[in-house]
Amino acid sequence: MAARNNFMLDESRVPKAWYNINADMPVAREPVLHPGTMKPVTPDFLSVMFPMSILQQEMSAERWVEIPEPVREAYRLWRPTPLIRAVRLEKALDTPAHIYFKYEGVSPVGSHKPNTAVAQVFFNKEAGSKALVTETGAGQWGSAMAMACAFYDMPCEIFMVKCSFDQKPYRRMIIENYGATVYSSPTVRTYAGRAERERNPDSDGVLGLAISEAMETVATSGGLKKYAPGSCLNYVLMHQTVIGIEALEQMEMAGEYPDMVIGCAGGGSSFGGIAYPFVHRNLTQGKKTRIIAVEPASCPSMTKGRYAFDYADLACSGPIVKMHTLGHSFIPPGIHAGGMRYHGMAPSVSALVHNGDIEARAVGELETFAAAVQFARTQGIIPAPESAHAIRVAIDEALECKRRGEKKVIVFNLTGHGHFDMEAYDDYHNGRIHETELSDTDLQAALAQLPLVPSE
Ligand SMILES: *Cc1c(COP(=O)(O)O)cnc(C)c1O
Repeated sequence: MAARNNFMLDESRVPKAWYNINADMPVAREPVLHPGTMKPVTPDFLSVMFPMSILQQEMSAERWVEIPEPVREAYRLWRPTPLIRAVRLEKALDTPAHIYFKYEGVSPVGSHKPNTAVAQVFFNKEAGSKALVTETGAGQWGSAMAMACAFYDMPCEIFMVKCSFDQKPYRRMIIENYGATVYSSPTVRTYAGRAERERNPDSDGVLGLAISEAMETVATSGGLKKYAPGSCLNYVLMHQTVIGIEALEQMEMAGEYPDMVIGCAGGGSSFGGIAYPFVHRNLTQGKKTRIIAVEPASCPSMTKGRYAFDYADLACSGPIVKMHTLGHSFIPPGIHAGGMRYHGMAPSVSALVHNGDIEARAVGELETFAAAVQFARTQGIIPAPESAHAIRVAIDEALECKRRGEKKVIVFNLTGHGHFDMEAYDDYHNGRIHETELSDTDLQAALAQLPLVPSE
């Protein structure tokens, strides 16, 4: 009989609680600082942005946080997601390793992002928020938010980075089809946007600035509108842990336990989502799974950035957090994996990398597309360019197993499909992708602008 390769859970197995890594962090938590005073923020600074129920999740150190039944009901539209053994890829690599991937591309918008979008809109609806405002880079977070807002009849405004707005019309159309309003950032609607347009009339926009525009819109709304971030914050990573909790159960069905868990990391939400339930076992049950976060060599916050306090946004109006950062003013090159172009990394992922609980690895764009194409030609699924970073390292590790004759078990997170990224693949096949080297001068210039936080 052929080996079983598709490990499906039925819908009763949608997790009942999220896992909160704050309960098990091996290092003390760093404070969140106010951008003006550089002192720890008071709850009223953050409550302009978020309803109290979400702030409580952000601060909570409770290990398991119950998922409200209406959120589980929304999850059941696409969860549990499949865990698949990549048998054909294993054969092509001729490796003794077993490679499994968790496939988040089955959500209606094709990525893991609705896992937190539906939860955030639910809690905001319950708290009486009148509209939600957010930013989007490549458009994946925007489409997830637009869909979730449609489910809960919540008005939604999205600042979309201009280069994606112009180059990814289908993502913008998806967002509008769900009923949300999209602006091309920088806009003339906000102070931050107007300042950028004056400074640089040809500005392509950048995620850090779209965040500034979204936060300013919320801050000037008289309390009516709230902000919904797509990554980085503790509670966003917590919502994503449904991925890893399901994967643990599915690996049990497969009768194996991973030696390695690999995920791509832009802001770190899908990575935390798959990895933290396994990190939990490492920290509390003596398991020794290697946990690997993969980033693009052109935007290498974990491998080349500094672990320091920095602003979350370009206009320096949002909170200051301790994280691996390239500097808030760093403008990453326009690589195709739009979801990986952020100057910082989630504070909890950064702390765990710094403490040695998580390994960080950077991969080049060409080798990443080569892995994506090899995966598509063996397993059929065309991965999102972001997800392909994890595939690259999974393949590299499987080849290392072949060299050493070791039968390791590898699990990676396939965060989304690449159906709206076909231009990127076309560029790859036609030799239009060139490795973008990080300029050390630019990096040093951006790092020189880190805030001077007292006590540091
Ligand atoms: C947004 C996105 C990412 C990166 O964001 P994280 O917060 O690091 O997960 C990765 N893959 C896909 C498909 C995305 O849409």
